[in-house]
Amino acid sequence: MDQRMAAACPCGRLDGKKRALSYADCCARFVAHFETTPAPDAEHLMRSRYSAFVLEEADYLQATWHASERPATLDFEPGVRWLGLSVKHFQVTGEDRAEVEFVARYRVAGRAVRLHERSRFVREQGRWFYVDGEQF
Ligand SMILES: [Zn+2]
Repeated sequence: MDQRMAAACPCGRLDGKKRALSYADCCARFVAHFETTPAPDAEHLMRSRYSAFVLEEADYLQATWHASERPATLDFEPGVRWLGLSVKHFQVTGEDRAEVEFVARYRVAGRAVRLHERSRFVREQGRWFYVDGEQF
């Protein structure tokens, strides 16, 4: 198994014994297998998209972005060091709609950034997609 797969998942999820899940056992199940294994709910999708940002998996980010909002291309800001994700709230808001509120922290050019967002997700044909988010 490659190093990235064995390392702690960037999203920081813990198992029942409060140990960090490996990337292979956590978000890679979706990021590396988008075609066959869609994230089962909006929280899993949100976490896997955070991990994909950390690991610069642009294809996955594009594939899980709702077509109405998806950017044509995705550029990763150079020199960003992601520090962690904290999911604050997960709410199902309709049959095929959900919201996830989270805080993501990172450093760039010596500056600490705290990104606090409530993201909206929709489910179409059994797959969840990120639509947009409101920042606080
Ligand atoms: Zn994860």
